[in-house]
Amino acid sequence: MSEGTEGDGRGISTRAVHTGEPAMEVGAPVVNPIYQTTTFYSDPSGAGEVLYTRYGNNPNHRRVEARLRSIEGADECLVTASGISAMVAALLGCVRAGDHILAARALYGGTQVLLDRELSRLGIESSYVDFSADGWRDAVRENTKVLLAETLSNPLLRFTDPADLAPVAREVGAAVVFDATFTPGTNFRTYERGADLVVHSATKYFGGHSDVTAGVVCGRSDLMRSVADRARIFGAALDPHAAWLLERGIKTLPLRMQRHNENGLAVARWASEQPEIARVHYPGLDTHPDHAAAAERLNGFGGMMSIELRGGDEASDRFVRALRLAKVAPSLGSVETLVSEPRRTSHVALTRDERRAQGIGDGFIRFSLGIEDAADLTADIRRALDAAG
Ligand SMILES: *Cc1c(COP(=O)(O)O)cnc(C)c1O
Repeated sequence: MSEGTEGDGRGISTRAVHTGEPAMEVGAPVVNPIYQTTTFYSDPSGAGEVLYTRYGNNPNHRRVEARLRSIEGADECLVTASGISAMVAALLGCVRAGDHILAARALYGGTQVLLDRELSRLGIESSYVDFSADGWRDAVRENTKVLLAETLSNPLLRFTDPADLAPVAREVGAAVVFDATFTPGTNFRTYERGADLVVHSATKYFGGHSDVTAGVVCGRSDLMRSVADRARIFGAALDPHAAWLLERGIKTLPLRMQRHNENGLAVARWASEQPEIARVHYPGLDTHPDHAAAAERLNGFGGMMSIELRGGDEASDRFVRALRLAKVAPSLGSVETLVSEPRRTSHVALTRDERRAQGIGDGFIRFSLGIEDAADLTADIRRALDAAG
């Protein structure tokens, strides 16, 4: 698949570096400055747009949004203060009391809490579909206004293509909303494949350095007006300095993703040959249930990989303690390799049997592979496997 070129025909790496850059004038800065100001002088007559950072129209917002719009290939794009605030704005932009959200069962924990605890209090009901392209049509209701899924799920990396959901959504007049945090525009064209709104935690791959918390919603102009209103009214504006850091991170996104994709494939292939590892979950391996679709439609499988140790939970506890390069920490999509055990983090509320029923076996460890040398990563994992016994 194409990585997406825009009207000017330039490639995604060029656009990641240059879109939204300052005008080339003698004495002008090469890099956009930080507009660390909450407010801007207004026309005393009240004419023109009122600029105010909380309204989301600080120049740092506008410039990073132009870059993101270009990378994601969407009509409009909005940055917010976190991935979860982007999800709140996206969903509230589409639903009101009495509406129904139909969501994939495997969802980011924060999104699950948002649906089950918060939106339910506002009279917005949610129900869930197990992983299958056919399940959506049967589960859709008359008042369904959103079909919600993630491109690659956590922690099994199951792949859902918006193209499979869009026809069902059109039948009932619902919007297709995708969380594409695991697959930025370099790896998958989520919007072009039929999502109406694409949400990202930019805290992850877009920022890319574990040093900025931010969110993104991209999508169709008519829906984006409502999404931007919700973000403004609920106060989800991104701080200008964070917007600037995000812009800086995006410049290297295509370069970083190339390395994440290479490391993902190299480490997953290596891991699948280690006797202590019972299973490797990675969409780039032909043992993965969605390998065929992922290979056809993704431009890279990314840096997220999960493994199951034969030694079970005791072995995985010893294993993560023995890692030296890879660090135990939540979050993902950064230059450094991070690991987490879902039974202690995202799936802590479930019993062992409930986790097994969801396909998360014992000794399960999730990796967010960084951009280090693959040989150093495999050496670190090998050493920790030996230590785990
Ligand atoms: C991290 C994450 C979020 C939430 O993003 P924050 O920036 O932490 O608010 C949402 N969806 C997915 C898939 C994530 O990994």
